[in-house]
Amino acid sequence: MELGIRGKTALVTGASRGIGRAVAEALAAEGARVFLVARSEDRLRALATSLRERGAEADHLAADLTEPAAAERVLQAARAFGPVELFLGNTGGPPPGRAEELGPEAWSAAFGQLFLPMVRLVRGLLPGMKAGGFGRIVFITSLAVKEPVEDLALSNAIRAGLTGYLKTLSREVAAHGVTVNAVAPGYTKTERVESLFARQAEREGLPLEAIYRRVEERIPAGRLGRPEEVAALAVFLMGTPAAYVTGQTWVADGGHLRFLL
Ligand code: NAD
Repeated sequence: MELGIRGKTALVTGASRGIGRAVAEALAAEGARVFLVARSEDRLRALATSLRERGAEADHLAADLTEPAAAERVLQAARAFGPVELFLGNTGGPPPGRAEELGPEAWSAAFGQLFLPMVRLVRGLLPGMKAGGFGRIVFITSLAVKEPVEDLALSNAIRAGLTGYLKTLSREVAAHGVTVNAVAPGYTKTERVESLFARQAEREGLPLEAIYRRVEERIPAGRLGRPEEVAALAVFLMGTPAAYVTGQTWVADGGHLRFLL
């Protein structure tokens, strides 16, 4: 399928590793020009260089999106790179915690990490997308928006809020050729998950393989997802053939969730 994104400019946040990186690689492989954002300058520089060596156009900016001023710097640098038509909105997950235990500071910090950066960036990107009559916004959320996960109260609640935002926004901008969707990963083998599992193994005094086995047994596919498998869904949603698909959450979880919809 021709995705029609060759030559289009993409802004990818959380691009230094994991799912964000996989999206950046997949977009570049499809011929998009990619602007990479995350906190780690070294990793971003190495990825941008590697993408250019493979013939792609890529640039980067290291920024911590929890800082209110960072979004404006990102927007300026991305616009200087090209007119952004594709946006992958992604940052790292918040710390674990139970709803009854977390205090206002933790909630505020998680809102500033998962929600506000997306709003700031979208507000900066939308005028250009609307003027050009084309835009694709895809947030990486979590299967937790369909079924809350124990001990992840911050993620469960704030990503549900982001889902309400994207649904509302999608209806406001649909007539301008701009779509807004979310991709919700299930367990996906990234550095974050590997380190979470390692910590869990240590805490429980179990071998690492036992933690993997326990999770894999709950997934009908019998394994964790690969970042590229989540990225493929995001990149499809950014293509021109997905023009009539908007306001939805698309899950990539190996069959983990039992819900019909
Ligand atoms: P990861 O931790 O491996 O990568 C996160 C990326 O976001 C990194 O590039 C990091 O530098 C960047 N980032 C984090 N905080 C940032 C900040 N303040 N400013 C700028 N960049 C920042 O995570 P991942 O496993 O690739 O997951 C991506 C998203 O999907 C996360 O929000 C995660 O919670 C969510 N998710 C992941 C899984 C999974 O199994 N991997 C499952 C459900 C949801």
